Amino acid sequence: MQNATLWRALLGVEKTVVEDIEFDEDAQVLVAHVRPTRRAASRCGRCQRRSPRYDHGEGRRRWRALDLGTVQVHLEADAPRVNCREHGPTVRAVPWARHAAGHTTVFDEQVAWLATQCSKTAVTELMRIAWRTVGAIITRVWADVEELHDRFAGLRRIGIDEISYKRGHRYLTVVVDHDSGRLVWAAPGRDKATLELFFDALGEERSQLITHVSADGADWISTVVADRCVNAVRCADPFHVVRWATDALDEVRRQAWNEARGAVRQRRAGRATGHAKALKHARYALWKNPENLTSRQQAKLAWVAKTDPRLHRAYLLKEGLRLVFQLPTEEAAEALEVWIGWARRCRIPAFIDLQRRIVKHKASILAAIEHGLSNGRIESVNTKIRLITRVAFGFRSPEALIALAMLNLGGHRPVLPGRK
Ligand SMILES: [Zn+2]
Repeated sequence: MQNATLWRALLGVEKTVVEDIEFDEDAQVLVAHVRPTRRAASRCGRCQRRSPRYDHGEGRRRWRALDLGTVQVHLEADAPRVNCREHGPTVRAVPWARHAAGHTTVFDEQVAWLATQCSKTAVTELMRIAWRTVGAIITRVWADVEELHDRFAGLRRIGIDEISYKRGHRYLTVVVDHDSGRLVWAAPGRDKATLELFFDALGEERSQLITHVSADGADWISTVVADRCVNAVRCADPFHVVRWATDALDEVRRQAWNEARGAVRQRRAGRATGHAKALKHARYALWKNPENLTSRQQAKLAWVAKTDPRLHRAYLLKEGLRLVFQLPTEEAAEALEVWIGWARRCRIPAFIDLQRRIVKHKASILAAIEHGLSNGRIESVNTKIRLITRVAFGFRSPEALIALAMLNLGGHRPVLPGRK
């Protein structure tokens, strides 16, 4: 065929013979008839091993390629089966696409890049594919990236966490590298068996090299960690400890709000209505770090201090605990003791419970401070994964969600085809 080199470049294929180009004007589709070069032909689709021909397979098939301008492009070729020594009768490998994929490799790469850069709508509209197809594509792209890179190399300090990804209590267990800030591993489930899979993948020798493990204090995590990496210092995740305090504070706020509402029902008086409403809206002022408060939120907080001393005390307790993590090690231990004493006497049940929990995890909390694990890294990865779980909604499998998270946060982001 004339201009074969040009066509190969336009279609983004290698080791491929372009036999013919055909343009369907009605459908506005360009079909390129292709076949693998002799050296690339007759290889097993799963292992690439040279294998004898077996049969026709299911005849000719098509692969979607990248558009040329506004025109959709398909590659068409025979898809015979070869008889692999290891895999038996298998559809032969093609140099332009992954095994069993309906899109070319460059198409896959572009979708993976887009999925880590743009909105769902941008990807599906531009590439003219369903979001579920995006899920299938990034799953196979991630599988290849995973093969190429040793993501556990040099892993020393890790954080283990669980993330809910769907309503109805579906969870992922995730492992983050404290030193690089990368997501290193994720799997569906949150139990001992799931976490065991991580240590199996890591291998015994490397598990012994882990020096620090931070986690939220869940028993299933500590049991497995104690068993699989004996040498590691176990640390509490400061981010989670502060969240416990935020939860306790919210409980106090809800109580105050319910009491205020109850007062309305009894009296039907104006002041209490306003009070209940204002309490509901005080939520963000109470949650936020004081340095980030807007002036309106500051005013709200001042209002809480005046009208609801108990809620305000709860707020100060939450802030006090958060500050412990910002102190230098020498001061932190003492500050934590002071905080525990204060919380024990505070007469607010939610914080008395929190105080017991803090005492239980004191050693690991202090270890986190001492070993400098109180950075915001885990929290920032956490926030990003949560955003991704929202984007990934609509994927059929958790594997696609994991692929998207790993491609985004695993340190090997997709590159556009032809730019490497
Ligand atoms: Zn094979």
